[in-house]
Amino acid sequence: MQISIIGTGYVGLVTGTCLADFGLSVTCVDQDEQKINLLNSGGIPIYEPNLAPLIKKNVSAGRLTFATDLKNAVKQSKVIFIAVGTPPNNDGSADLTQIEEVAQQIAASLNEYKVIVNKSTVPIGTAHKIEQIIQEYQENIDKKAIPSSVIPAKAGIHPSVIAREQSDRSNPNLNRRTGVSPVYNVIARSEATRQSQPTSKPFDFDIVSNPEFLREGSAVYDFTHPDKIVIGTTSPKALKIMQEIYRPLYLIDTPFVITNPETAELIKYACNAFLATKITFINEIANLCDKVGADVHQVAKAMGLDGRISPKFLHPGPGYGGSCFPKDTEALYHFASTCGYDFKLLKGVISANKRQRELMVGKIKHHLGDLKGKTIGILGLAFKQNTDDIRKSPSIDIIHLLLKEGTHIRCFDPLAMENAKKILPDLTYCQDEYKTAQSSDALVIATEWNQFRNLDLSKIKKLLKSPILLDLRNLYDPDTLKSLGFIYEGVGRK
Ligand code: NAD
Repeated sequence: MQISIIGTGYVGLVTGTCLADFGLSVTCVDQDEQKINLLNSGGIPIYEPNLAPLIKKNVSAGRLTFATDLKNAVKQSKVIFIAVGTPPNNDGSADLTQIEEVAQQIAASLNEYKVIVNKSTVPIGTAHKIEQIIQEYQENIDKKAIPSSVIPAKAGIHPSVIAREQSDRSNPNLNRRTGVSPVYNVIARSEATRQSQPTSKPFDFDIVSNPEFLREGSAVYDFTHPDKIVIGTTSPKALKIMQEIYRPLYLIDTPFVITNPETAELIKYACNAFLATKITFINEIANLCDKVGADVHQVAKAMGLDGRISPKFLHPGPGYGGSCFPKDTEALYHFASTCGYDFKLLKGVISANKRQRELMVGKIKHHLGDLKGKTIGILGLAFKQNTDDIRKSPSIDIIHLLLKEGTHIRCFDPLAMENAKKILPDLTYCQDEYKTAQSSDALVIATEWNQFRNLDLSKIKKLLKSPILLDLRNLYDPDTLKSLGFIYEGVGRK
């Protein structure tokens, strides 16, 4: 089965590569020529553990190709996955421009029945919107095939066809996309061809909502070992094709949730909003621990032992970030508002997460006083470990707040420095953790990279101007650090 993936970013590239590894023939399409050229020359535009060898393997096997020509890829494919970005608008709603553009381009490329699968995270009703865009495009093509200058309204069409059109209005067998019966289309077109040559004809298609739940930093593993596959469609034909695509996961007993597109779209937002809420909850508990001298790790451990709660996503820190949780919580809140529902819990989560960044800066101020002219060393720029992604990274947000206070920033990240340089070119980028600590007034651990867990602490202490370590990821034991002479503070434990 030939498949196209439109959008070769974190989701598209991983999806395309893993589907190719399932034995399918995949073309990953992107409008970014540089990205496609890089992939075609053996390079990889993002960092994801285990992705590089998998790309190489499937390219060599001839199952995975990269292209910028969307039309050609769509024409040759039975199934087209959409995996383009859905960034936030200024009001928090999801910007669907990329989705709409791709839907238009797919519409213009249909040449036979296709399944169009949306993997991007989108507001409820987007699958229907994609369907409408393609349907409207096809209707316009139909009209263009009968130019009004050549055929005045209804003229040139046999009266029996007009009569049929009228009777079709009450016909339950109307084509659900074009709104007219297939019989009417055929007769109308044959009448029209006497005076004009049709340029195209409508092709059947189905839309599927198939949200993606992979995590950056473990995307290949997550795609091949998912907790669930959600398939939202009303078409039994499309469902069968989707089940065929995901058969290797079915064979390893992955649960499938088969539902309608609207429910599938809401499942994705609900999952991300819930996880963001869980992170925010433990952050709020950690802030309370800071006030009363309790240890949040012990609280979280005890909470997690309760089977109803589970220990996952109970790690306190500087607040959630990344390309998904911030925009998806905002988008769900905005979407609920447009439905006339004030999602109060989510509003609280969004605002508490923003405050969490400010509270982290407050911790730094508490130890250093006025920050103007001070040098802060920041370890970690990526929004989490094992990725080069800095979108909505807590570290980057905190750096912005520190720069407003007049600080100078020295920083290091194992993978994300090139991305950070694009938006913060004036920081001092260091070659490692120790150069970052050198002559800094305080060192802040902002991302939980494993390599920050075993620093040579006596060396760090000697390099720092003052031995202040703010551990925003709670990588170290407070008592050990204090015994080494550090002024140490974590999140929710001192
Ligand atoms: P991304 O920004 O990394 O990639 C999107 C790609 O789409 C870009 O390379 C862009 O050039 C390309 N693109 C845009 N318009 C195009 C067009 N008309 N034709 C061809 N290519 C086009 O985004 P991402 O992180 O992969 O996320 C994609 C979607 O998946 C988003 O809706 C996101 O919310 C969702 N999602 C992301 C993750 C994640 O961890 N990143 C996880 C689950 C779901």
